[in-house]
Amino acid sequence: MIQRTPARIEARNEEPSVNGVNQRDQAGTQVQTWQQILANSVTDPEQLLARLGLPLETWLSGANAGHRLFPVRVPEPFIRRMQLGNVNDPLLRQVLPLVDEALFQEGYVHDPLAESAAIQTTGLIRKYQSRALLMVTGQCAINCRYCFRRHFPYDSQRLGPDDRQQVLASLQASPDINEVIFSGGDPLAVNDRLLAQWARALAGVPHIKRLRIHSRLPVVIPQRVCDDLLGWLKESPLQKVLVVHVNHPAELDNETNRAFSRLRDAGVTLLNQSVILKGVNDSADTLAKLSEDLFASGVLPYYLHAFDPVAGAHHFDVNDQTAAALVQDLMKRLPGFLVPKLVRELPGEASKTPVAPDNLPARFTSE
Ligand SMILES: *Cc1c(COP(=O)(O)O)cnc(C)c1O
Ligand code: SF4
Repeated sequence: MIQRTPARIEARNEEPSVNGVNQRDQAGTQVQTWQQILANSVTDPEQLLARLGLPLETWLSGANAGHRLFPVRVPEPFIRRMQLGNVNDPLLRQVLPLVDEALFQEGYVHDPLAESAAIQTTGLIRKYQSRALLMVTGQCAINCRYCFRRHFPYDSQRLGPDDRQQVLASLQASPDINEVIFSGGDPLAVNDRLLAQWARALAGVPHIKRLRIHSRLPVVIPQRVCDDLLGWLKESPLQKVLVVHVNHPAELDNETNRAFSRLRDAGVTLLNQSVILKGVNDSADTLAKLSEDLFASGVLPYYLHAFDPVAGAHHFDVNDQTAAALVQDLMKRLPGFLVPKLVRELPGEASKTPVAPDNLPARFTSE
């Protein structure tokens, strides 16, 4: 396991490059809005390597090769939690393109979930019985190298301003839907005015009880949990669930803790999903600490996604047998409510599919 040292990268003291109202904290230092932090994300492989103090001659050509396939995007607060000079830092691994991405591997595909098939009307995806997904935006605040989104044309599917009536009509006509999931991309990359409008409109559909948000933003830019977001969440009569995405305990710090606690105060139930990733979290120690640390900050572990064979991400592949053995180990170490469900999303299935180890107890084997 990688030992983390206190050596962290200091925040750069540069002026924001976009327009917007700046606030100053009591010490008089510049406080950026989440939009400014998002706009100032590192989007250049060379800049990322330089920030981490990594030798360009070793890493830049590979990083550029991956960057051409799926661009680099990392917000500053996430970079600040990385360890300088360590190319194996578990946070950096998630965002730094390696030359491996450009190497063709048999069996790794572009749309492993065959999502392109489930789209109902623009921006509305119905692949589950009681839940509908709204593709609020194709944008993400961070580009994770292992994500299948790297190949999916999400931008062409996202909602436009004119789609609202059509989407609402479709939901009105579907009394079996009781939960709407804001999805993307990252739905919290969208401004709160628009999200609040959607939340209000959905609250007007009688059979919709819950609003769920799947977002990595509260983790990668904790400042996203701003007063405007908390305002519309608090105001909404729907039950609110936010599923964050944390893969490694070092992603959690005081800022994420504070963001989570403000969300809970606004009546939001917090869950976490992770992806099992080689070199990031494929150890029982790391996963156990992740569960403990999440719970300490008020978040329940929910899903651990088995690895999907995404083209360009084979260097993260953990096979199902290894993943299932890790979860069995977690079951011994942790209370049941801290053990995430190991699942896979399979094309055409009405729910996630549990990934079970080969050595199931005898009574569960067929024949
Ligand atoms: C699986 C999945 C859902 C639905 O999740 P459940 O918790 O199983 O209802 C929603 N959004 C995304 C992106 C998913 O992958
Ligand atoms: S934030 Fe989520 S959807 Fe966006 S790139 Fe990362 S894993 Fe993919």
